[in-house]
Amino acid sequence: MNNRKLGISGICTHCRNKLELASWQINAIAIRVDIVCPHCNQPLGLKCSRQRKALKNLDHLTTLRVSMLIFTASSMLVALVLEWIGLISVLAQLNFSLIMFYLYLYTLRRTREKHRLTLTLQAGGKKSQAQ
Ligand SMILES: [Zn+2]
Repeated sequence: MNNRKLGISGICTHCRNKLELASWQINAIAIRVDIVCPHCNQPLGLKCSRQRKALKNLDHLTTLRVSMLIFTASSMLVALVLEWIGLISVLAQLNFSLIMFYLYLYTLRRTREKHRLTLTLQAGGKKSQAQ
């Protein structure tokens, strides 16, 4: 089992403790399987549809990060080739590469901010096998 922390945390509504969720716990929440709170042993699930939608949107952010990396690298390569051919100057190529690099860093930062999610996990429901 992968226990890597993803920066997504949850708050137990029963004992008000904050939980740092591992990837398998997030997967369990996403497929509507209750997880057990390590503090009060209550089964916890995500009932809020708005938070469930935010959790699903994280998949799109991962795709955005990868596609932005490919887009940045390919556009910098095109600028380099254009400079070699002689269509643009060295300064224009450097400026374009710098702008693309900053755009990539900005996208990376925005996706990291969106990844810091705190889910309010409601107690109740049946206890699952996952702990
Ligand atoms: Zn609890």
